[in-house]
Amino acid sequence: MSFVSQFKTAAERVTGDSRQRQFIRTALGNYEIARDKRKAAFQSWESARQAAAETKWEAINHLDKHLESLVSKLEARGTKVHWASNAAQAREIILKIVTEKKARSIIKSKAMTSEEIHLNEALEKAGFTVVESDLGEFIVQLRHEPPYHIVFPSMHLTRDEIRDLFQKELGDAPSNSPEELTMVARRVMRQKYIQADIGFTGGNFAIAETGMISITENEGNARLTAALPKTMITLLGIEKVLPRFADLALFLPMLATAGAGQPMTCYNTMYSGPRQPGECDGPEEWHVVLLDNRRTELLADAEQRDALHCIRCGACLNVCPIFRNVGGHTYGTTYSGPVGSVITPHLRGLQDWKHLSNASSLCGACTETCPVKIDLHHHLLHNRRNASTGEPSFFERLTFKVFAIVANEPAFWSVAKKVGWLTQPLQKLVKGSALDPARTWTKTRDLPPIPQETFKDWWRNRK
Ligand code: SF4
Repeated sequence: MSFVSQFKTAAERVTGDSRQRQFIRTALGNYEIARDKRKAAFQSWESARQAAAETKWEAINHLDKHLESLVSKLEARGTKVHWASNAAQAREIILKIVTEKKARSIIKSKAMTSEEIHLNEALEKAGFTVVESDLGEFIVQLRHEPPYHIVFPSMHLTRDEIRDLFQKELGDAPSNSPEELTMVARRVMRQKYIQADIGFTGGNFAIAETGMISITENEGNARLTAALPKTMITLLGIEKVLPRFADLALFLPMLATAGAGQPMTCYNTMYSGPRQPGECDGPEEWHVVLLDNRRTELLADAEQRDALHCIRCGACLNVCPIFRNVGGHTYGTTYSGPVGSVITPHLRGLQDWKHLSNASSLCGACTETCPVKIDLHHHLLHNRRNASTGEPSFFERLTFKVFAIVANEPAFWSVAKKVGWLTQPLQKLVKGSALDPARTWTKTRDLPPIPQETFKDWWRNRK
C-alpha cells in the first residue's frame, strides 16, 4: 500500500473513533490552559518569539562556523565526535561503538533522532537489548509502536489501557493510578540502568560557544542514562546548534512553555565531556553523533531553510485541527503534525510524502503558535507547489474556467445562487451517492442548510 493510501485508511479509522478524538482534545485543552498561563509570565511572549527566531536564524545561517566551534570544544575535553551523512551511516557508527564495547544492553532516554534512523530495530536485530527509559517511550515500546507525539509519546492511551499493558507485559499493575503505575515502571527501570553497558541520549540544544549539549527532561531518566553506564552515545541533528550559552536563558523556558505549559522542565543538564579526573560520576567515554540525513539539502533551500529552526516543542501539533482529528500515528512518519508535513518530504522524498502537505486546512494556527516563528503553513504551500508534476487535468481547468466566468459576472452568479437554492432537495437526495460530485467530502458531513433568503435579499429587505 502506498504512503498516501496508508494515510487515508488510518485517517478514516481515527476520525471515526470519537472516543480517541475526545480524549486527545481533552488532553490538549488542558495543555492550552497551562501554556497560556506560562506565556503570560513572559514580559512579552511576542518579543521572546522574535528574539528566538533571530537567534536560530543566526545559528542556521552560520551553521558551518558554529559546528566547527562546537566540535573543537567537545573534542578538547575528550569527547569523540562522529559525522553521519544519513540514517544508515548513523546506525553503522552506533552499532560499531556498541559492538566494540562488547555491550549487551543499552538504556535510552528520549531521542526523536533515534526514531528517525530506526535505531532500536537495528540494535535489536543485531542482538542487543534496548530499553526506553522515558515513561511515555517505555509504554509505547511495550506496545511495539512508535511515539504518538514528539513530546507526549503515549498521550493516546488511557490509564486503564496502561494498567492492562503493565499487567500483561510486566505482570505488575496494582491499579490505574498514575503514581502506582510510575512506581512499577521505575522498579523495572532501576535494574536496567544498573545492568546497561551503554547509555544513549538525544540532545535539545548544542552550544557552539562552550561545546556543550543541553538535555531537557522531566523524569531524571536522561541524567541516570548519562551518569551510570560507562559509555554514553548522544545522537542529535546538526540543526540543534545555538551560538551562545546565554541563549539557553531564552530557549529553555521557551521550550518548556511551548512544549508542555511548564515554566521550566524539571531537569536541565549541560554535558561538556566524559568524566574528568576527580569527578565522581558520568561516562568514561562519550560519543556524539551529528546527524545530517538531508538537513544540508534543506539548508540549501533558501525558501524553506527556516524549517531547520524547529526546537521540536510539539506546539504546532497541539493546535493543528488535522493532528487533533487524525492523531499522530496516521502520519506514518517520525515527525507528525505541521512540522512533520513540512520536513518529511525534504527528509524522505517529496513525491512519496507530498500528500502530507495537503493534510492541512492552511488555517495558520501552527505558524501563529510556533515559538521560533517558522512560516509553517506557507511551507506547506511551497511543498504543494514543488510537488506539482504537470498541468492540471482538462476537467480541473474546465471547472475553474467556468467558475471564473460565473463568479466574475453578477448576473451569472445570481442565477447560480438561485439554481443552488432551488436544487436543495435534489442535493440532499444525491448526497454521498455516486451522482454526488463531492461525495468524498459529503460522505461524512451534513450539508449546511441553505438560508431561506440570500444576504443581499436580507439586506435589501431590511432597508
Ligand atoms: S515547528 Fe515550531 S511549533 Fe512546531 S515543533 Fe517546531 S518549534 Fe515547535
